[in-house]
Amino acid sequence: MGAGPVGMTAAASLAHAGIETVIVERTPEPQTDWRASTFHAGTLQLLETIDITPAMLAEGLRVPRYQFRDRREGLIAEFDLTVLADETPFPFRLQLNQQRLVALLWDRLKSDPRVTLRFGAEVRSVRNTGEDGGGVEVVVRTATGEETLKGAYAIGADGAGSTVRKSLGMPFEGFTYEERFLIASTPWDMRTFLPGIAEVNYISDPEEWLFILRTPDAWRVLWPVPADVDDTAALSDGEIQRHFRGVAQTADEFPIIDTQLYRVHQRVAESFRAGRVMLIGDAAHLNSPVGGVGLNSGIHDAFDLTRRLERILLGAADEDPELDAFAEVRRQVAVQYVQADTQRNTDRLREKDPELRRRSERELKEIAATPARARQWLRRVSLLESVQKYGIGLPPDETLRRLAAAAT
Ligand SMILES: Cc1cc2nc3c(=O)[nH]c(=O)nc-3n(C[C@H](O)[C@H](O)[C@H](O)COP(=O)(O)OP(=O)(O)OC[C@H]3O[C@@H](n4cnc5c(N)ncnc54)[C@H](O)[C@@H]3O)c2cc1C
Repeated sequence: MGAGPVGMTAAASLAHAGIETVIVERTPEPQTDWRASTFHAGTLQLLETIDITPAMLAEGLRVPRYQFRDRREGLIAEFDLTVLADETPFPFRLQLNQQRLVALLWDRLKSDPRVTLRFGAEVRSVRNTGEDGGGVEVVVRTATGEETLKGAYAIGADGAGSTVRKSLGMPFEGFTYEERFLIASTPWDMRTFLPGIAEVNYISDPEEWLFILRTPDAWRVLWPVPADVDDTAALSDGEIQRHFRGVAQTADEFPIIDTQLYRVHQRVAESFRAGRVMLIGDAAHLNSPVGGVGLNSGIHDAFDLTRRLERILLGAADEDPELDAFAEVRRQVAVQYVQADTQRNTDRLREKDPELRRRSERELKEIAATPARARQWLRRVSLLESVQKYGIGLPPDETLRRLAAAAT
């Protein structure tokens, strides 16, 4: 349920394993708005197993270097992912709008006889229909009325406001940042105005931190919008130009081709499983976009779950140990990697205390200047570490062994 990047990946992975799947999506076609735009090495390796990575590489922008900067003082630390070339065939961040992944998967799934696409169908509720030999029922609303779909398992990949999660009554604890984030895109090359910047830059500032990154289509600049500024004012052309001029130190008027203003949360569902209904992606965990790991870890959820469903449906494994292992390991990764790292990254950029800012910048400089520490840092941010530590969709005994080892 949900044809975003995570749901479409789950469907493609199931179809790749020869399993029949129905995709239920409320919009008439896949959404095309710009959102996340970074794919890390661990994710490209997983997508390669369903043969989608080559098409992404052909379209995306390979960015091996990224920087931490101080808005007033300039470069603090630069990290170079090419040091991971002995560990991954993808030692870079691939910059590509997430909806291009959805479009690539949609093109493939449209012609797959094992996949039924139900676009324009909104999930209203989901329920488990019984214990042994049971399944799930999903009530959907379409242009012609309500209908009930029956299946063996249901995957809730319906995003932040997940109807599936709400229908299960699953708590979604955490918090919402006071400020909203605004990301605006321009075709102009920001390197002309900020010489020496990389193609991905995290720029700290006690007043207004920034995140500047390049995609194949544009340069994108993200800044926080204080709670007392309303949406209309934040999105007005004058305000956006004022920000770009402040960033680029120029009087030029920037062409703006896209803007997104959104609320940012740190939340994790109490469990990623209720019977035969599972939650993945934003439906299961939400986080700050600083670091670009939320979508990536959602794609990892999709692979972990579908590898287990494949074993169950082929009669090669028992349902409960597999699905419990999925729920436990993916929640652990969401808390220990995704939440922890994105919160630390965001706090680093917005820290106001001068001593804490200096300490954070000193730490980054030291990590970048020490090859072993830089490698460790890069393995973590590229999600290679979590994939190697916990595996993706490993048999339950092995997953539990790794969880226990991580706990000691
Ligand atoms: C405006 C915005 C900007 C963002 N920018 C960034 C960014 O710059 N960097 C970053 O790392 N992350 C960003 N994110 C987060 C990132 O986009 C998500 O992590 C990612 O989209 C998660 O993918 P998903 O497939 O889990 O959910 P989604 O992409 O939200 O997909 C969910 C799908 O489910 C469908 N759906 C929802 N409810 C129902 C229902 N009841 N019935 C049927 N279908 C339903 C939706 O239409 C949608 O197609 C942004 C998010 C937003 C909202």
